Amino acid sequence: MRRKIAILGATGSIGKSTLDLVERNPERFEVVAVTAATNSEALAEIARRTSARLAVVSDESCLDDLNERLAGSGCQTTAGEWALVEAATGEADLVIAAIVGCAGLRPVMAAVEAGKTVALANKEALVTAGSLMTEAAAKSGATILPVDSEHNAIFQCLACSSKDRVSKIILTASGGPFRTATDETIRDATPAQAVAHPNWSMGAKISVDSATMMNKGLELIEAHHLFGVPSDRIDIVIHPQSVVHSLVEFTDGSVLAQLGSPDMRIPIAYALAWPERMATPAQRLDLAAIARLDFEAPDPERFPALRLAREALEAEGSAPIVLNAANETAVARFLAGTIGFTDIARLVGEALVDNRHAAPATIEEVLEIDRLTRERVDALMQAA
Ligand code: NAD
Ligand code: MG
Repeated sequence: MRRKIAILGATGSIGKSTLDLVERNPERFEVVAVTAATNSEALAEIARRTSARLAVVSDESCLDDLNERLAGSGCQTTAGEWALVEAATGEADLVIAAIVGCAGLRPVMAAVEAGKTVALANKEALVTAGSLMTEAAAKSGATILPVDSEHNAIFQCLACSSKDRVSKIILTASGGPFRTATDETIRDATPAQAVAHPNWSMGAKISVDSATMMNKGLELIEAHHLFGVPSDRIDIVIHPQSVVHSLVEFTDGSVLAQLGSPDMRIPIAYALAWPERMATPAQRLDLAAIARLDFEAPDPERFPALRLAREALEAEGSAPIVLNAANETAVARFLAGTIGFTDIARLVGEALVDNRHAAPATIEEVLEIDRLTRERVDALMQAA
């Protein structure tokens, strides 16, 4: 029996890596639904190649073009936010959540509520609605498999022991393109410099997050929700080679790590084949050629986003939603050339100071706090 999979965000970096693995294993997987934001040309090509039965563009103005491109293919087409939910809750039993940002929250939550197995790359969904999502998964019996390389590493390490023997989780961070940069270089950083990640090839938003280190901050919150470990037992260590993807320390003092080349096809394959493993074309580690692995403490002065994320996690309630929404808005403005690199963390910090929202009880309330925070950040930008 082939596994039926839906790929949300099929045209992106994680989407493409997933398709590469799925297409190498046609006897194991059947793609039933694919989605994208606006790129109907790429989506139609993917839908034809995989013989998907449903293709969804979230931007309704792109539906005519998608229809034209898929005419005669037998693939059903739809558009809009709710169509993403249809793709996530339809016939697929494995949903690859690879949309970037809070835009993926509604479909991810719907997949969890429908009891699907969800391979989760879309960390913003968990950051903004972690407690609601883990509660929904407990109720529906859904399984959330982490795709983010650090969390996938921790998930693999935890397979060896029971959770109550974990004393600490250690998230590794490459440090991004500005790890050794001066304050001046960081202040004047351009979008092109910020997206040029030294080890990983990824979408623009997460690449900027890696440069500010907000990515590690979001991953701290993600780890808390996935593994039920409090903030004071999750450490972050800089590891520039991106070979050790994260570690778990157990109560006996043993530390387990997962290593591999920096290729997202390794964690994606683990989620696709779980609880088994499957072959990937990823480059094998040559430890003698790598020769050394370095570790250092992160610098909270040059990378304030890390501190802001930890404060948001510890404040709980609406703070992680505000952190994420302010960051998404500021990163989009930075990529558009409207604000400077260091304005990103400044705006996130200001939005958190202003935050008065109560803790949300529903996804609709999460999305409302997200919307209001985006407006607030735009107002803060105008005022500056
Ligand atoms: P990307 O920008 O390359 O792709 C994003 C995908 O989401 C595209 O298919 C795009 O069409 C779709 N999308 C964007 N905005 C949308 C919207 N408003 N509504 C519906 N669909 C929308 O991003 P990526 O690098 O593949 O990252 C995807 C997610 O995976 C992010 O949450 C990121 O943090 C996480 N992640 C990525 C990597 C990586 O190596 N790329 C690693 C770990 C985690
Ligand atoms: Mg990661």
